[in-house]
Amino acid sequence: MKGDLKIYTGPMFAGKTTRMIEELETYDNFMALKPNMDDRYSEVDIVSHNGHEIPASSVPSDELLLYVVEDVDYGDISAVGIDEVQFFEESVVDAVDYILSKDVDVIAAGLDTDFRKEPFGSVPELREMADEYEKLSARCEECGDEAGYTQRIIDGEPASYDSPQVLIGADETYEPRCEEHHVVGKPEESAYDEIVSDIAN
Ligand SMILES: [Zn+2]
Repeated sequence: MKGDLKIYTGPMFAGKTTRMIEELETYDNFMALKPNMDDRYSEVDIVSHNGHEIPASSVPSDELLLYVVEDVDYGDISAVGIDEVQFFEESVVDAVDYILSKDVDVIAAGLDTDFRKEPFGSVPELREMADEYEKLSARCEECGDEAGYTQRIIDGEPASYDSPQVLIGADETYEPRCEEHHVVGKPEESAYDEIVSDIAN
């Protein structure tokens, strides 16, 4: 028997972690993992934006993840939650496959797109593998319409395209935005302006 993969995606503030926790709590015995680069709240808990929390293990986001999940004694665990799944490197796909092969369900939550609206990490691949997939949305901070994207703001301005996909400890903020109000700033590299002026001439 193989476990089922369920994945909740969407922008920030869409309630992905909350949904994952609700789903995990339908199982008698579950465990939860999160990438150890995420110390937003606490090393040992997953906390949703609405304050709901469950204990979690902070695990390597790189290829070590696979060795970790292979060494876990699943015992009577019937589901494994993986939060912030977009931050894991490619090995997360094999890690999820391994857990499923133990007849353990995997409930994952993560951003499907980054601040540039581009695919984030292995989320698209996991979505393809998923038995159940739900895309959640938030409310646009500008107009209140349904928001499917995450706006990164640095010093009050939309982040430029060449801002790194993952910023750690930077002074940036995020807002959910709809298609119309999501803005990606043009690259800051001076080469960009040179190319544009070359084309114009
Ligand atoms: Zn809007």
